[in-house]
Amino acid sequence: MKDIVVAGAGCAGLSVALALLERGVRARIVLVDPRTRFERDRTWCHFELEPHRFSAAVTHRWNRVRIAHPAGTRTLRVARTPYCHLPADAVYRAALDRLARAPNVSLRLGERVLEIEDRAGAPACVRTDRGELRADLVFDSRPVRPPSAPGDLVQSFAGWFVRTDLPVFDPRTATLMDLRVPQQGGVHFIYVLPFSETEALVEDTWFASQPLPIERHETFVADWLAAAGVHGYSVLAREQGVLPMARSPFTLQPSPRVVHVGLRGGAARPSTGYAFVAIQRHASALAAWVARGMATGRWGAAPAPRAAHVGWLDRVFLARLTAHPERGAELFHRLFARVPSDRLVRFLSESFSVRDALSVMMALPFGPFARQALRELAPRSTATLAPRADRTSWP
Ligand SMILES: Cc1cc2nc3c(=O)[nH]c(=O)nc-3n(C[C@H](O)[C@H](O)[C@H](O)COP(=O)(O)OP(=O)(O)OC[C@H]3O[C@@H](n4cnc5c(N)ncnc54)[C@H](O)[C@@H]3O)c2cc1C
Repeated sequence: MKDIVVAGAGCAGLSVALALLERGVRARIVLVDPRTRFERDRTWCHFELEPHRFSAAVTHRWNRVRIAHPAGTRTLRVARTPYCHLPADAVYRAALDRLARAPNVSLRLGERVLEIEDRAGAPACVRTDRGELRADLVFDSRPVRPPSAPGDLVQSFAGWFVRTDLPVFDPRTATLMDLRVPQQGGVHFIYVLPFSETEALVEDTWFASQPLPIERHETFVADWLAAAGVHGYSVLAREQGVLPMARSPFTLQPSPRVVHVGLRGGAARPSTGYAFVAIQRHASALAAWVARGMATGRWGAAPAPRAAHVGWLDRVFLARLTAHPERGAELFHRLFARVPSDRLVRFLSESFSVRDALSVMMALPFGPFARQALRELAPRSTATLAPRADRTSWP
């Protein structure tokens, strides 16, 4: 039996552990995380193109999504691939229940990974604040400062779960972007997930070079509610975050026995910050890689979280956004106004065909994007290390 250590039991760590169980990988799996509680610390949303291991935790589905811009509002009908919502606590509960039933899995909570040392010819050593663990393979999902090169953006957001005195929201329609807010210094929009006529998450979001202070985000949320005529409300809960929108590459496999997963491994889509579905797909691909490696003794490089062409298109888009942030709102408006909804949903969900991508490209100013696409053509790998495919021992 081999030993696998998973550093971090958040979205990616739990997903990788579950994927290894689903694949029937015969290994002792130890998850280490300093947290001791799994609360609703975030909500995950995505377009539902395919079922995944947490589909049963979906609590709300919207059949319509909206984008509002000073030049007009467009509502897309997405009933075939609804925009769905998973509260984090339901996801954590589903994962922990499943892991608790697996005799080969242990969860070490309240314990912090300090350092991971991968020594040639010996198991990796995972040092924690309580001791040391030996591992034949380590999946590392500890939070990390994203790579930052000049021009890299972050997605900074903070929101309120509000309950209003009067029915004001349309629970059938999620607002992905309300761009009718001040735009200086980045792309700025309000995101609204209405759960009922009186309850919604209202989130202020910026794509900018630096995160905004939470108080500034919250001022914009309050201003948006006031402008929408919502005066009597209470704030039930808050969420906030900063996600990488980096054009520079992430490190996927810093050494043969260590694989970065989740945001640390570049799972967040550079152009949108969405990561949940990419994490699920990546976890499955990694589990298949481990199962194959154990069965054959041959280990290639660990699979990356997304195909290279998706990263290339995102870099093109981000390069234009960074060069002309003042045109960002208009670019998003054009995308939603001109691309057919099915194609746009597939594009946003990283499951697109060449025709879908062409439809997106034709909606954008063609000349500047085509020139940028050529400039970005030199492929950049997300992996810094490509182990030899013919390696025959455990990595
Ligand atoms: C508020 C919020 C909302 C989001 N909404 C969406 C969304 O709607 N759709 C979408 O696709 N993406 C969304 N994302 C982005 C992304 O899906 C999440 O950030 C996701 O949780 C990333 O998974 P992860 O495993 O990389 O990080 P996390 O889930 O944050 O897990 C990291 C884990 O590492 C642990 N840890 C920290 N330090 C150590 C240490 N020293 N040793 C061991 N463990 C450690 C932490 O306690 C944590 O459990 C959202 C992010 C946030 C913050």
